[in-house]
Amino acid sequence: MTLATYHRKRSFTATPEPRGWVGARRAKEPIFVVQEHHASHLHYDFRLEADGVLKSWAVPKGPAKSTRTKRLAVQVEDHPLAYATFHGKIPAGQYGAGTVKIWDHGTYENITTKDGKLVPLTRAIRNGHLEVVLHGTELRGGYALIRFKGKKDWLLVKMKKKS
Ligand code: MN
Repeated sequence: MTLATYHRKRSFTATPEPRGWVGARRAKEPIFVVQEHHASHLHYDFRLEADGVLKSWAVPKGPAKSTRTKRLAVQVEDHPLAYATFHGKIPAGQYGAGTVKIWDHGTYENITTKDGKLVPLTRAIRNGHLEVVLHGTELRGGYALIRFKGKKDWLLVKMKKKS
C-alpha cells in the first residue's frame, strides 16, 4: 500500500488534512467512514480500512439505504487511516477545496468469499468484487461494491441478505 498519490495531490502546509502514513495492520475490527464532502460537486467519500490505509470511493449521490438503488462509486486514491476522523474546511485553491463532515462511521466485516473461502479485502478490490457488513449508525447491513467498467467505476449496492 502507498499514499504517494494522496501526498502528491495535497500541500500539507496549506490544507488541514492529515499527512498520515501507512499504518500497521490492527487486530481490532476494521473501520469504515463516510464523509460528506462539499467540494465543487457534493459527494460522499466511502472509505474502508484495509492493510493500513483507507481504500476510498467517491459516491456522488451517497450510499443508498434501499436494496433497489445502485449508486456509482468512483475509486479514488488511498487515504491514510488518520483521515477517518478528519472533518473541517479544505481551503480554496487546494485539492478537494470545501467542507468535509463525517456522515457515518463504524466498523465493518469483510464477507467476500470465493469458492467458499474468505477473500482478503485488498484482493477482493483487485478482483473487482467485495462484500462487507457495515456496523454504522446510518449504514447497517450488507453492501457490495462491484467494478463494472474500466478500473475506477464501481457500483455500490445494499445487499438483500445480511441486512
Ligand atoms: Mn472527496
